[in-house]
Amino acid sequence: MTKKNAMKIIIHGGFFSESSQSLETKIAKQNSLKQIVSNSYEYLKTHTALETVVFAVEQLENDELFNAGVGSQIQSDGKIRMSASMMDGKTKRFSGVINIENVKNPIRVAEKLVDTVDRVLGGEGATKFAHSNNFDWFNPEIPQRRKEYETKLESKSLGTVGCVALDAQGNIAAATSTGGKGFEVPGRISDSATTAGNYATQHCGVSCTGIGEDIVSAAVATKIVTRVSDGLSIEKAFDKTFAELKEIDGFAGAIAIDNKGNIHHLDSHPSMVFASFDGKTVKVFE
Ligand code: ASP
Repeated sequence: MTKKNAMKIIIHGGFFSESSQSLETKIAKQNSLKQIVSNSYEYLKTHTALETVVFAVEQLENDELFNAGVGSQIQSDGKIRMSASMMDGKTKRFSGVINIENVKNPIRVAEKLVDTVDRVLGGEGATKFAHSNNFDWFNPEIPQRRKEYETKLESKSLGTVGCVALDAQGNIAAATSTGGKGFEVPGRISDSATTAGNYATQHCGVSCTGIGEDIVSAAVATKIVTRVSDGLSIEKAFDKTFAELKEIDGFAGAIAIDNKGNIHHLDSHPSMVFASFDGKTVKVFE
């Protein structure tokens, strides 16, 4: 059993683009991530890793700065469709929603699905499931995203959010939520509610961000977690997986924690936004 002081947490808010985002936005993102990682660590003291990753991702979804939940990007037909998933390393249960509409917190719908038989729902079915399970109808659009959509300025802010946590019992969980790439064709499926973008076992948990097609092609989260589960160190598992991602010129970043409490992150382009907390020091992207 892991000791209380071995609890760890890491969250991410996708990629930051120096060219299309201001210094103020960067500082605001840093501050928000610091706040959310600290709140979530407090929460982890009295909750499981699985409960905590959902709690953290819900807060990230509620923050307009990030491309998930409120503030999600708009697709090419003018609609917002969101995807989210969570995985419990202990039970190895994955649940998720793909292209859900009109809810505030897709991660809470993924959580609701974890004890059902059909644990990954897409499109209309996911939206119907949410509304018939007392999730309020909610429009996650903010004026800034509509402005970007109307001026056809393809936003380069890949702002997916995610969290990996290790709890006091030594269990690991991962959760990820996204508003997608922006301007995608309706029906396009993001990596975020697949095991390529979000995966956990009792050995390691990973949440990804970046271009979904690249993440799926390189099976990023699945490979890192499997490699760590098979005995490779977390650093080596990342290096090998990112070397393979490079072979396809892939664009991705990932955060992870293993069951020894090692926290790791890596990105193919050094601009991923993240914050981690080991109980002593909050580390944030600079
Ligand atoms: N991975 C997400 C997607 O492709 C986008 C992102 O991470 O920002 O939908």
